[in-house]
Amino acid sequence: MNAVNIAAFSAKAYDHDFLLQAANEYTRFCCYDVALNPVTASMAKGIQVVSAFVNDDLGRETLEVLANGGTELISLRCAGTNNVDLSAAKEFGLAVMNVPAYAPHAVAEHTIALMLALGRKLPRAYNRVRDGNFSLDGLLGFDFHGKTVGIIGGGKIGRLVGERLKAFGCQILVADPYNGEQCEKLGFTSVDLEDLYSQSDLISLHCPLLDSTRHLIDRQAIAKMKPGVMLINTSRGALIDTSAVLSALKEHHIGYLGLDVYEQEGSLFFEDHSTDIIQDDVFQRLITLPNVLVTGHQAYFSKGALSHISAITVTNIMEFILDKPLSNEVRLN
Ligand code: NAD
Repeated sequence: MNAVNIAAFSAKAYDHDFLLQAANEYTRFCCYDVALNPVTASMAKGIQVVSAFVNDDLGRETLEVLANGGTELISLRCAGTNNVDLSAAKEFGLAVMNVPAYAPHAVAEHTIALMLALGRKLPRAYNRVRDGNFSLDGLLGFDFHGKTVGIIGGGKIGRLVGERLKAFGCQILVADPYNGEQCEKLGFTSVDLEDLYSQSDLISLHCPLLDSTRHLIDRQAIAKMKPGVMLINTSRGALIDTSAVLSALKEHHIGYLGLDVYEQEGSLFFEDHSTDIIQDDVFQRLITLPNVLVTGHQAYFSKGALSHISAITVTNIMEFILDKPLSNEVRLN
């Protein structure tokens, strides 16, 4: 059997390293540090497998160019499929595979890191100490012990976050229309969104981005939350209406905001913009606030997770080229 060529888009040097470690004699990766879109899709002409990441544009136009160029498989190096037009993929005969258990421990741990860093004001403390300022004014934190945490989406990551916070002595509420029972077995309380909003001191988002969850956290939802609530999003940016959250921060209704994802992150994250004039005024205003902590979609970014993602990507591709049943095929519901 000949080796299959794989065009990996949005692939940084670190992705290249991990993909090469996972590759075998049948999988030959060509890594491009550019995002996949209708224009760059032509770079994959004649290549059977295209590997893509979270912010790649896998809309109809891109998929059409890929299919016309001979691509047969889209191998996602992530779990979320919100950036893929699955009905167009089906129409063009493209198989789509993903990495379903996409770094759950790494993301859960990063979520806790954001919460603790915000709660104990670590970014401010770090800067102060480096500046020789050991004053504690403005650094007053709070105990997590005894707090109520609301988790929206009790899947793999949400449950890991809940288990870790339970060990801190928090009461865990979960809103999940499908997985409530499984969460109850872990000692969490399954509630509806209304109760979660009104009772939680901290709210953490771990549900997928779907049409039904886009801007789940909007002005109306925020109005139901406790004043001073901590809001954390390590799931997908568009779960939050960022302008509504910014207003609530300015009105002191939201007390803390931790984000690893942002609705407009596609034009910002994963690149060095330190010498650019960033044009996104909502984002720029947000990061001036002392009670906001933003990381650039790095929750998944651990050695263990990158090696797991690369290994599953290669397994997915091998199943496809060997004509085996596709364990991680993503189908249109
Ligand atoms: P999962 O599929 O295991 O869990 C998602 C849960 O959300 C499921 O239990 C599902 O029943 C629930 N759900 C679906 N619709 C819901 C709704 N309307 N309200 C409440 N719950 C709902 O997924 P996971 O592996 O736990 O991942 C969760 C999210 O984290 C995904 O959106 C994924 O894209 C994101 N993620 C982010 C990073 C990162 O680096 N920041 C990395 C991996 C995954």
